[in-house]
Amino acid sequence: MSTATIIGSGPNGLSAATALASAGISTTVVERNRQIGGACSTAETTLPGYLHDLGSSVYPMGIASPFFRSLPIEIPWIEPAAPCAHPLDDGTAVLLEHSVDDTIAHLDAIDGSGYRSLIEPLAGHFAELVPDLLAPIQHIPQHPFLLAHFGLSALQSGASLARSRFSGIRARALFAGMATHSALSLGAPTSAAVGLVLMAAGHACGWPIVRGGAQMLTDSLARHFESLGGRIETCHEVMQLPATDLILADVTPRQLLRIAGAELPPGYRRQLERFRYGAGAFKIDYALNSPIPWTANECSRAATVHLGGTLEEIITSERHFTADIPFVLLVQPSLFDPTRAPAGHHTAWAYCHVPNGSAADRLESIERQIERFAPGFRDCILARAISPPAALERWNPNLIGGDLSAGVMNVRQLLFRPTASLYRTPVDGLFLCGASTPPGGGVHGMAGFHAAQAALRYLAH
Ligand SMILES: Cc1cc2nc3c(=O)[nH]c(=O)nc-3n(C[C@H](O)[C@H](O)[C@H](O)COP(=O)(O)OP(=O)(O)OC[C@H]3O[C@@H](n4cnc5c(N)ncnc54)[C@H](O)[C@@H]3O)c2cc1C
Repeated sequence: MSTATIIGSGPNGLSAATALASAGISTTVVERNRQIGGACSTAETTLPGYLHDLGSSVYPMGIASPFFRSLPIEIPWIEPAAPCAHPLDDGTAVLLEHSVDDTIAHLDAIDGSGYRSLIEPLAGHFAELVPDLLAPIQHIPQHPFLLAHFGLSALQSGASLARSRFSGIRARALFAGMATHSALSLGAPTSAAVGLVLMAAGHACGWPIVRGGAQMLTDSLARHFESLGGRIETCHEVMQLPATDLILADVTPRQLLRIAGAELPPGYRRQLERFRYGAGAFKIDYALNSPIPWTANECSRAATVHLGGTLEEIITSERHFTADIPFVLLVQPSLFDPTRAPAGHHTAWAYCHVPNGSAADRLESIERQIERFAPGFRDCILARAISPPAALERWNPNLIGGDLSAGVMNVRQLLFRPTASLYRTPVDGLFLCGASTPPGGGVHGMAGFHAAQAALRYLAH
């Protein structure tokens, strides 16, 4: 029987492990932390009884993931009334609703048909598009015309797409908030892509959270993997390559260089050294004694709230990630999942982008931005846990300099992630399987799945 070691138990590591164990390979996952799940895990980091997602919370690409959907597991998804809210200074909010018509009702009248013509073709065919979107760009697409239609808009910058497709403040602001998930400046080519995908996903399958927190998703994957005979070892940091037929590393290039440096040919080492990391995050977890007092009540219909005002403001905030007024991404899961906090109490997290590895203290500016749209927010805070980039990386070494995406998603690294050989390395049996490989960041397990397919092809030859 062939043997495999998976280094790291993030969603991609567990997905790779599950795919290999299903193929009859004797597979062990080795995780440095006591808790499995990487950036898909949950803990009481503020006060007892308050469950905080240490990384991810909202899973449009998780619920759409062809790999997760293929597994006989139950993930307790909870779908909020609306995928996302974006408050403005006039006391209203623009919402991404499940229906295109309901979303258009939030926009300036002039942008209704523009929104429909941009989003409906993607949202209407989202299920067909997903396997192509969550695969390496180099693959032969199943739906080339649909993908080409998407690509024409997706290659643009978020700022130019917002300006060319929309005239009103409301649609421009909504789209700008979506494009910030690229963690690129909104002037960068391809920064529109993530925004388009997230909007289409909101209409096609929603932006769900998981009852009980991210850990429940991880634990479902882990239980299934163990039911296939797989083993998980925690509190074990891999420092050198283990002696198994296959090694799939759920780590980023910088870590692979540390673990396997001496065994990698110099040319490949240089390619890994050239891999670039993107903006970091400064994250705060909150235990709250009440729901967040939004001026625009509609913000309580969504778990995810984008706090940044207009397109122009967001462009400024995200240009170098150092602006006084940051764009803030906030998640308020306990409004929809009462298991996250004691009765009547709540949890939330908020982060803003910062330059990679920045030591700047963004607490005050994040809370000022929340107060702008929810006056009195600070009075609701019972406790906070603050995670600047260095703390994120100490907890999970894949978050280099606080980068949530395991490497910047610029044009080069969309195509060659992390190198032209993608999952494969020049070392026999060694593969990369984390978010530094296609399709990149997010909880969908598809990098792990594709890496496992590459490893199985290698074993078969
Ligand atoms: C604050 C934050 C918010 C986010 N929000 C969302 C969101 O809402 N929705 C979404 O889809 N995505 C979100 N993301 C991104 C998403 O969580 C990641 O893209 C995803 O978890 C990547 O999965 P992965 O398996 O590649 O790596 P990770 O989840 O980073 O897991 C890597 C694992 O490998 C372990 N490891 C590393 N080195 C070693 C070693 N040498 N030996 C043993 N173990 C090792 C680490 O401890 C870790 O457990 C967020 C991320 C963060 C940090």
